[in-house]
Amino acid sequence: LERTFSIIKPDATRRNLTGAVNALIEKAGLRIVAQKRIQLTRAQAETFYGVHKERPFFGELVDFMISEPIVVQVLEGENAVAKYREVMGATNPANAAEGTIRKEFALSVGENSAHGSDSLENAQIEIAQFFSGNEIV
Ligand code: ATP
Ligand code: MG
Repeated sequence: LERTFSIIKPDATRRNLTGAVNALIEKAGLRIVAQKRIQLTRAQAETFYGVHKERPFFGELVDFMISEPIVVQVLEGENAVAKYREVMGATNPANAAEGTIRKEFALSVGENSAHGSDSLENAQIEIAQFFSGNEIV
């Protein structure tokens, strides 16, 4: 089984949607094998989204990600990386398919409720940034 890294973003935690997002995750057959609610520091957010640091929205993205607590998770299942990208839907909720997390809950392309790793390699890097091995069960 594959593992991917997930974040329930501040727009969703603020609106008390953690359980609603988790229901869509579990309905898709993904298992939440680690989960914690944390508040990112600016340094953590800048490191996590480092690949986007030259993009015009980087400052806004970091400010948003540290604005409220987030929920970080490890999800396990068959083809978990690709499957969770499907469950999230397109980055811009206007383009997201019916029934996806972003279609149901996202407010905008920036405040889009969820993050999911975009490759197995990045999943491993991102999981290691937030969880030690004995926290994943
Ligand atoms: P994520 O990496 O969060 O799972 P993604 O892979 O679908 O999302 P990326 O292109 O990696 O999308 O962008 C990372 C995040 O940056 C997006 O999820 C969104 O929160 C924010 N973002 C992307 N494009 C824009 C934009 N045009 N304006 C504002 N914020 C944006
Ligand atoms: Mg991405």
